[in-house]
Amino acid sequence: MRLIGKNEKIENSLKELERGLEEFQSSDMWKNYLDTISVFHNYSPCNCLLIKLQYPSATFVAGFNVWKKLGRFVKKGEKGIAILAPVYKNFTRQVETVNGEIEEIEETVLIGFRTVYVFDITQTEGKELNLSIYHPLKGQAPEDLITSIENIIFSIGYSITYGDCGKAEGYTNSIQKLVFINNTREPLTQLATLVHELAHILLHNPTQLSRDEQEFEAESVAYVVLKSLGIEIGQSAFAYITVWHPTLKDFLERAERVRIAANNILDRI
Ligand SMILES: [Zn+2]
Repeated sequence: MRLIGKNEKIENSLKELERGLEEFQSSDMWKNYLDTISVFHNYSPCNCLLIKLQYPSATFVAGFNVWKKLGRFVKKGEKGIAILAPVYKNFTRQVETVNGEIEEIEETVLIGFRTVYVFDITQTEGKELNLSIYHPLKGQAPEDLITSIENIIFSIGYSITYGDCGKAEGYTNSIQKLVFINNTREPLTQLATLVHELAHILLHNPTQLSRDEQEFEAESVAYVVLKSLGIEIGQSAFAYITVWHPTLKDFLERAERVRIAANNILDRI
């Protein structure tokens, strides 16, 4: 029997990660998700504020007709969220060209704003939409592995707090040297989050990388470490990485840093 060494396991896991990301990013599921979310506007900062003030829990917001096109209808009695829509008017203006001729040009000018109403997805009902591509992992996790990862985090001088942090799986505060883990999630998600946050500590403290690059690296390390230990978090990791960083073009650039961090963690387990 041939025993596979740690380095070979890391290499294999990195290959699986690249293959999995490629497959995920060309899947119908991902394309369908992008099609669906593309109908939602990026509202102006002022309108974002208006939406948050009137409907603090708003996530996906659109006008009555956009919801109708998506196969959903505003529930009876729901009150619209008022936002401001720009009003434009077309004017014709006469200008003199370089040849001395008079030419008429059409101009679109902002003349004011009017109130329009939009609705949050929770105020509508109808067809189920593919609006969330990332789903937390379900399942158990080996307790001794959780303890090992916790001990590595402690050994670097960080403390760990378990509690509810809403939609996030967890976060790291490098000033307070604190890792927060969402304990409303299933143990497998908590384990993956511990490794993800440990990767942030090892790779991004401090860093000049953008947030999407940091998330790409941290989740890749979580995938590679757990895959090397025989624990599969593929679908969730591929979705998370792709939402943050939907391109593979710099995969190889990042791969070396992921390999080093994964090696470092696996050495200490
Ligand atoms: Zn992160």
